[in-house]
Amino acid sequence: MIHFLDLKMLNQKYETEFHQKFKSFLQTGYYIQGKETKAFENNFARYCQTKYAIGTGNGLDAIRLIFEAYKILGLLQPGDEVLVPANTYIASILAISQAGLKPVLIEPKLETYNLDPQNIINKISPKTKAILGVHLYGRISDWDAIQKIAKAHNLLLIEDAAQAHGAIWKGKKAGNLGQAAAFSFYPTKNLGALGDAGAITTQDSDLAEVLYKLKNYGQSQKYVSQYKGFNSRLDELQAAFLNIKLEYLDQINQKRQKIAQTYLEHLNHNKIILPPFAPKAHVYHQFVVRTPNREAFREYLLEEGIETLIHYPVPPHQQAAYSEWQSLHLPLTEQIHQEIFSLPIRENLTDQEINYIIDKINRY
Ligand SMILES: *Cc1c(COP(=O)(O)O)cnc(C)c1O
Repeated sequence: MIHFLDLKMLNQKYETEFHQKFKSFLQTGYYIQGKETKAFENNFARYCQTKYAIGTGNGLDAIRLIFEAYKILGLLQPGDEVLVPANTYIASILAISQAGLKPVLIEPKLETYNLDPQNIINKISPKTKAILGVHLYGRISDWDAIQKIAKAHNLLLIEDAAQAHGAIWKGKKAGNLGQAAAFSFYPTKNLGALGDAGAITTQDSDLAEVLYKLKNYGQSQKYVSQYKGFNSRLDELQAAFLNIKLEYLDQINQKRQKIAQTYLEHLNHNKIILPPFAPKAHVYHQFVVRTPNREAFREYLLEEGIETLIHYPVPPHQQAAYSEWQSLHLPLTEQIHQEIFSLPIRENLTDQEINYIIDKINRY
């Protein structure tokens, strides 16, 4: 069986380094916001070409904290509208709601599953104050056009880069493409911890200053609360593991990009609809394909020993959590959720496994 993902196997290669790190972590007796967290914040900021990286407890909080910080800075008010792709992972939408803002769903492009600039323009209202650009599946959206729209309408441009660690748009890294960006290091992401973890990157020192406090009870110093803050700190032990894994991120992304290229060159386009190639702007967190007869196709592949997954089976507007959107009809988003599925693209796939997957798909 070719498993879609095998985290135990993927993390095995760092085992010796993990053990060493854990040993020195244990010896410090310092478990929260210690030198590993500080080091990771520095390392990750350097990696993303930003001045600041602020560790958080997870990716959802990272997005939410950006919005909360902008409220404190007076750039957002409760009830302001935030434009967000309708086919994103639910966390993008939850972060907007939790911050007391209003998510406005944007139909994506069918070809790339990414934000469609024209559909953004159509949804701008006097209440629109921000765009949450999600680099879904690890692919940067049509960023020049999106930046232009944000600028023309005076909107904050925030990245949900939870799937796009290391993606590059015209020489600029994901995390450095808007005013602030949120990352997740959930174990399955291209840069994954051994538990929950997240970060925010930004060039904005005012924003960074608020965020450093906000994720730690709003404290400017111990027991001095400046804001009604949160407890969403990057865990020291996860930071230690991430410091090890960050060193391998480019290598992992390159391997994923190479697998994607092989798929794109050899998969028969008549059998399955493939994503357009995007060499550097796509780090292939997922390799998503599309077909109207998805269930039969996936069943056939499973019978041939190939595991596939669906990212994601139910769009946010059809979730019980958002019953207020019950009557909303978003044909593109709904079609995408009915037709997509993801092929294995983990970095430890062997050439033999890749060729086997290609062969079985082309024989369907
Ligand atoms: C994973 C993910 C998140 C949430 O990250 P968590 O660390 O699981 O909270 C947010 N947005 C997107 C697009 C994601 O893929």
